[in-house]
Amino acid sequence: MNQFDCVVVGGGMVGAASALSLAELGLKIAVVEKSAPKDFTPVQAFDLRVSAISLASEHLLKQLGGWQQIQQWRMCPYKRLGVWEAEQSYTEFDAADIKQTHLGHIIENRLIQLSLWQKLQQHSNITLLCPETLISIEQNSSNVAITLSKQSINAKIVIGADGANSLVRKLAHIGTTGWDYAQSAMLINVKTEKAQQDITWQQFYPSGPLAMLPMPGNFASLVWYHDKDEIKRLSALSPHQLTEAIAKNFPARLGKVEVINQAAFPLTRRHANQYHKNQILLIGDAAHTINPMAGQGVNLGFKDVKALQHVIAKAIGNGETWHEPKVLSRYQQQRRTDNLLMMTTMDALYLSFGHVSPLAKLARNAGLMMVNKLPKVKNKALAYACGL
Ligand SMILES: Cc1cc2nc3c(=O)[nH]c(=O)nc-3n(C[C@H](O)[C@H](O)[C@H](O)COP(=O)(O)OP(=O)(O)OC[C@H]3O[C@@H](n4cnc5c(N)ncnc54)[C@H](O)[C@@H]3O)c2cc1C
Repeated sequence: MNQFDCVVVGGGMVGAASALSLAELGLKIAVVEKSAPKDFTPVQAFDLRVSAISLASEHLLKQLGGWQQIQQWRMCPYKRLGVWEAEQSYTEFDAADIKQTHLGHIIENRLIQLSLWQKLQQHSNITLLCPETLISIEQNSSNVAITLSKQSINAKIVIGADGANSLVRKLAHIGTTGWDYAQSAMLINVKTEKAQQDITWQQFYPSGPLAMLPMPGNFASLVWYHDKDEIKRLSALSPHQLTEAIAKNFPARLGKVEVINQAAFPLTRRHANQYHKNQILLIGDAAHTINPMAGQGVNLGFKDVKALQHVIAKAIGNGETWHEPKVLSRYQQQRRTDNLLMMTTMDALYLSFGHVSPLAKLARNAGLMMVNKLPKVKNKALAYACGL
């Protein structure tokens, strides 16, 4: 009863998706999670943690059956993406340019997780162990023994989907490279006077970008990036004072807003040196924590999920032993370089917009204006950001 094909540690958005995608292949899965997501009721205020879900992630969530449920709860599609530094460099990406009806959706993280949990709970191949925490992992050549706080279980493979401070990664002695950014991000849920629900935008400043993510109804999630001390100062303001600070600092196109709630998050970059060690795999933020500036974090995690499912399905189809390290290493080959490229692109953007010199500003704005005049380049960049 305590023997599984795969144990997924962490039932967040990525861990839950990974468990479902492998259960689809007929594998027997256990998911270990510290705490269950709170149930949904329509009167609940919007959560602060939201994600811009790409078209590629939407396809995965549809395949796993979570999307249909989130649609019945709440989500906000957007068709356009505006980016600029100086007003004259304003560049707009439109779904119609890449023959899509929308570019993505803003969805509360908890609702994504909850929709997948409903599917986990209904799946006969999945055992959900919650509340439960990981204590230790011991690998031998054909099996992994996993000690949890209330029981011991065994598996052919273990997937660490336990987030940025992954214990699985630590217990497997997988090192990381990375750093803490000088900036923090403040997430602020606001009620907006103007309806602007079909666009998401981001204005760049040397101190960090200011972003608006639309939420259903006249609501929005604002993201204010700044150095840590300034974010600390903003966090201490009353809702009224914060509303005034937003009016003073955010672009006029936001219109009048009323602050509902807010919280600050430190920004870190971490990249696991390996995504795979013998029978242990890392996925999602446990493998890579990226600067959230372009809203790619969970989208990269969902790409990991797809890649791992593909690698294992192909091995099963070819009659290979699917849990052999030789097979599992193909997942790392498919994902590590792609994730590194995205992390490095984000850092290049972060560094280039951090330059205060007038010459650097001129070059950045000229670059944005040039992108506007090159529809092929613009559409290619847009399709990449949408995960197409
Ligand atoms: C300010 C900010 C804004 C962001 N905006 C976006 C965005 O717009 N778009 C986007 O794609 N991404 C965004 N991200 C990134 C995104 O939130 C993460 O990439 C995503 O949450 C990672 O999901 P995950 O399932 O890998 O990890 P997590 O969400 O961290 O889930 C890990 C799970 O593991 C559980 N767990 C941990 N340790 C244990 C243990 N020992 N035993 C049992 N369970 C355990 C936890 O309880 C948790 O449920 C943003 C991040 C930040 C900080």
